[in-house]
Amino acid sequence: MTFAELGLIEPLLRALDGLDYQKPTPVQAQAIPAVLKGRDLLAAAQTGTGKTAGFALPLLQKLLQEGPQVAANSIRALVLVPTRELAEQVHESFRVYGQHVPLRTAVAYGGVSINPQMMKLRKGVDVLVATPGRLLDLYRQNALKFTQLQVLVLDEADRMLDLGFARELDEVFAALPKRRQTLLFSATFSEAIRKMAGGLLRDPLSIEVAPRNTAAKTVKQQLITVDKKRKAELFLHLLQSRGWRQALVFAKTRKGVDELVGRLQAEGLAADSIHGDKPQPSRLRALQRFKDGEVNFLVATDVAARGLDIEEMPLVVNFDLPIVAEDYVHRIGRTGRAGASGQALSLVCADEVQQLAAIETLIGQLLTRSEEDGFEAEHRVPQTTLGGQLVKKPKKPKQPKVPEGKPGKVHLGNLLDDKPQVKAVRKAPGFAKAPAGKKPSAPKGKGR
Ligand code: AMP
Repeated sequence: MTFAELGLIEPLLRALDGLDYQKPTPVQAQAIPAVLKGRDLLAAAQTGTGKTAGFALPLLQKLLQEGPQVAANSIRALVLVPTRELAEQVHESFRVYGQHVPLRTAVAYGGVSINPQMMKLRKGVDVLVATPGRLLDLYRQNALKFTQLQVLVLDEADRMLDLGFARELDEVFAALPKRRQTLLFSATFSEAIRKMAGGLLRDPLSIEVAPRNTAAKTVKQQLITVDKKRKAELFLHLLQSRGWRQALVFAKTRKGVDELVGRLQAEGLAADSIHGDKPQPSRLRALQRFKDGEVNFLVATDVAARGLDIEEMPLVVNFDLPIVAEDYVHRIGRTGRAGASGQALSLVCADEVQQLAAIETLIGQLLTRSEEDGFEAEHRVPQTTLGGQLVKKPKKPKQPKVPEGKPGKVHLGNLLDDKPQVKAVRKAPGFAKAPAGKKPSAPKGKGR
């Protein structure tokens, strides 16, 4: 199957040629012909599957072929996304795929001045990529009319609901023309998403490219148990002993991100951060420096997880496990993208056992555990099982502590083997219970 066989026109094929996309990914092979025919779409596709081109290419083609010319302050296609980073990334994709096509595109999100976005909209744009809050601001200030709108795309719809955009979305839907094509992309399908899809889509084509909620197959997942207070020390030890050159690192809170970045910088390492407290220009700058290789370690909260598109990112480290289990899938989706293989390593402490159990239940597999010599956890992480029960382990005698600054040898054997991970039938998701009298404390914030 080639892109030409999917019915794409020459200017788009030329752009794909320039990008060296040799053949469509599965989501593209299914989505492109359907969108060209005008069908609604309900697609279960996680980041890394090539979903952006799956909707952007046919959309550009339709807008080019079908007219009409866009009027002042009007848009013909609206792509709603959850985060600023994703807005930038999706808009960039439209720009690149549409480089030989005379269509106007724009991007709008909050946290930056609204005026340049208003100016851009004055002449009208064919495709607007926007986050829901800023889109409504523009609409309420009459900078935007929806009368010419032909296509609505909801990208990462589950994430938009997770981030609390349900009300804004309802308001946007109410303002759009009823006759339109709607494409809904989501990595996961909760009841709320299904309900939203039911209200929005007409006879949609359902596409599912990866089994629901499964982590990308090309990602090798590893887990090291460690005490919370020694995570940073272990991170530095692994970084040195394994010769990490570049990694995307996720921490739970903004404070945690800043602390780790401070620690890495104190060691003379090129590290930077992305989190919700940072103004947008400095978030974009940090991302660009990471992409350019000027920064080797980018530490982020989950707000950044969905929006980052870093090709062939070799390593994602979960310094902390995410609070929302689905975020684990999104985080590790940063590596092993579009067929490249990658590694996702999680540092897990006893407090995180409930999150671990929820993640394992979601992805339908138990993660292989290991310990690093000299970093054995004093507070053991209870054994988890699929379906959410914890198994009490007999207590092991304590290992003697290795003096600071003299870490022990790395246990590579456990981490490098390709043993199949324990598989079991997925049961209803449920959080694991902590053993009596040792309840892990509830996570405090999301750090967005
Ligand atoms: P997405 O899932 O849309 O975020 O895309 C993931 C990555 O795959 C991006 O870096 C795209 O540039 C890349 N990509 C998308 N489609 C293809 C393709 N057909 N061949 C090679 N790379 C692709």
